[in-house]
Amino acid sequence: MSSFLETIGEALIAYWSSPLTLSVVAVCGACMGTLLYVFVTNARNAKLRVSLLTGLYALSIFFWAFVAVSFSLCAAEARMVAYAHNGVPMAVLGAVAGGSIATGSISAIVWRYGNAAVIRRFAPRELHDDERWLQQFADLLREFEGIPPVHLRLVESDEALALAIGGKERNVLVSRGLLSILEKDELETVAAHELMHLKHHDAEFKVFSRVLSRILFFDPFSKFFDPAVHREREYLADEMSGRATGKPAALASALLKLAARNAPTKASWGLSISGPGHGVFSRYPPLDERIHRLLLLSDLLARG
Ligand SMILES: [Zn+2]
Repeated sequence: MSSFLETIGEALIAYWSSPLTLSVVAVCGACMGTLLYVFVTNARNAKLRVSLLTGLYALSIFFWAFVAVSFSLCAAEARMVAYAHNGVPMAVLGAVAGGSIATGSISAIVWRYGNAAVIRRFAPRELHDDERWLQQFADLLREFEGIPPVHLRLVESDEALALAIGGKERNVLVSRGLLSILEKDELETVAAHELMHLKHHDAEFKVFSRVLSRILFFDPFSKFFDPAVHREREYLADEMSGRATGKPAALASALLKLAARNAPTKASWGLSISGPGHGVFSRYPPLDERIHRLLLLSDLLARG
């Protein structure tokens, strides 16, 4: 038994001191460092920051998958890794291939099933006749924006919720609580905000990022990336909604009304249009910054 453990120990030492293994880790680290640098130095470019975070997420999954496959290979094929001439390079190649396959499969499964799970949780109903005007508005806007058909549905809840769910069937869910507190043009800007999430595939990515950060609970990077992705995507959807409807001030007013209500329950954090929290671990940008940007956009559009 002890010689078996010794062999694994030798395999691990040979593996983790090999230039090839260290190069994979160094390249991964350098890519993440570069993306982080560009991210930090582009504070106002929401579109770029969203892409950078997506890249960082993928690299972070790959890194952990690579480490996990490396340890499994070293344990399973300890003798080969420790003593065979080509043992270490073979194991590194195996770990890179295994890491990539694991990254792809985890992503595909979460992408495919994450959205359906969210819909089940909120159990929405079809819109009634007096609510159908919102679907008509959404149809008009999504056709103009080149977004495939979107199904608006209502959640029977007093909480003020608005969320977009992507995937094969695109849904925007609004709650009775939301309809009862917002004016018509405020509701339109909120619906436009959710449609913009669908246009940029944020809806899929938000669910993807949320589920993934739970699977990768031990990954310190995902604790930072998951909320950061949400924050950047909120800024972007706010801006695009303001531009598409021409009423950024109405969205600002809607956000203020939502903030004055009780915070949504934890189940809808990070999914609905607004929620609590500040700082690097919050899924929402600071409310005053969102309002500030929307009012600036409003001033700009008024000058045009
Ligand atoms: Zn949003």
